Amino acid sequence: MARLSNEIVNEIVNSCLYLYSKLPKTGKPVEKEWTVLSCVVQYDVLSDRYEVVSLGTGSKCIGAVKMTPDGTLLNDSHAEVFARRGFLLYLYDNLERSLKNEPSIFTQESGKFVLKDDIDFIFYSSQLPCGDASIIPKTGEEEQFGDVIESNKRSADDGHCEESKKLKLEDDIHRTGAKCLLDSEQDPKEDGNKYHLVSQVRTKPGRGDRTLSVSCSDKMARWTHVGIQGALLDILLVKQIYIKHFIFGAGVPYSEETLRRAFLKRNLDKEVYLKCIPEVYQSSVIFECVRKQEDLRPAPGSVVWAKLYESFSEVAVQGRKLGVTKKKATSPSSSLCISKYKLYEKFQLILSMDRVIRENVIGDNSPDEVPYSEMKRKATSYQNSWTSVKKNFFKMWTVKPDMWNFCIKSSGLVQSTQETCS
Ligand SMILES: [Zn+2]
Repeated sequence: MARLSNEIVNEIVNSCLYLYSKLPKTGKPVEKEWTVLSCVVQYDVLSDRYEVVSLGTGSKCIGAVKMTPDGTLLNDSHAEVFARRGFLLYLYDNLERSLKNEPSIFTQESGKFVLKDDIDFIFYSSQLPCGDASIIPKTGEEEQFGDVIESNKRSADDGHCEESKKLKLEDDIHRTGAKCLLDSEQDPKEDGNKYHLVSQVRTKPGRGDRTLSVSCSDKMARWTHVGIQGALLDILLVKQIYIKHFIFGAGVPYSEETLRRAFLKRNLDKEVYLKCIPEVYQSSVIFECVRKQEDLRPAPGSVVWAKLYESFSEVAVQGRKLGVTKKKATSPSSSLCISKYKLYEKFQLILSMDRVIRENVIGDNSPDEVPYSEMKRKATSYQNSWTSVKKNFFKMWTVKPDMWNFCIKSSGLVQSTQETCS
């Protein structure tokens, strides 16, 4: 696979930052706040055109206690996850266009969809993903960054010699707030590079109620191994969709080695076959809202944008649309367009539009009788390869309860029970 030139990498990042700058202010960081920005960029090889097709911001995640089985609440509002879910919306939109014989990135082939040959996808993020990839050895270049200067000052005050300062720097690492899984081996939390274990699946950082959402390093590694499309779209597509290039921003700690470890080499004992080995890059362009100093707060909101019929963007706080009243909190109308509920609605729309596709997927059943979790289990080849990746690559993965047993009804949300759904 050909590598992108530095010039093109920076051009792509600039187009992501330009799009971000054009979005409304709501949900973006204000003074003393920081956030992460992630985008999926489509590259059309034939026309040599790059285009951002989805964007996400944010660094918040809500705890396990708040999880609801109706699929309307989104637990994970990290930028990477929002950009990916916005991308899923873009893919559904293109499936719909294909069925209407409108311009689309997909063609149809015996009741399934095929991505056109000359289209590649690129993922940009303003910093390395939380979790394993963020456990980065410190290098001398960071001496201008706050915490390292502080530790050097302290050792000078203590009367330590030059050599010990240098050694300390080399033996130190940047840390991640993401935590090892409860039932796995835990970080030793000793000094320097003995603080963390590496190659571990971790849950997202955060205080208080612990989340069951895994870190972005783990999620992105998952996309690298089984595709970014997820189980539902896998049912409709002939081939998985892989990210060919991952680009990260400047002005933040970066290491190609930790990225490769997190995405490709967790478990050295076993060879893992990959259909697409992605290239990784660091751009020299800095996103204006990165965490420049320690005393900044994470912005509470998350923004999602996708290139759809009519360009839209939504702002999320605590996993729901901004401004939702408590009374309406559990209604699908307060649910983000990228929630499990709304994406399942899109999936069902595709089934309702084409008889052959519908019969391939659910036979004689009516789509609104198949609960979300049951539909995901129908993606048998996806589920089989995911089971093998969990065992051979990650060794361990959080087990979320298989609770999303909801159905979509045209009249709105139906609470899931075996009686109403099957
Ligand atoms: Zn993250």
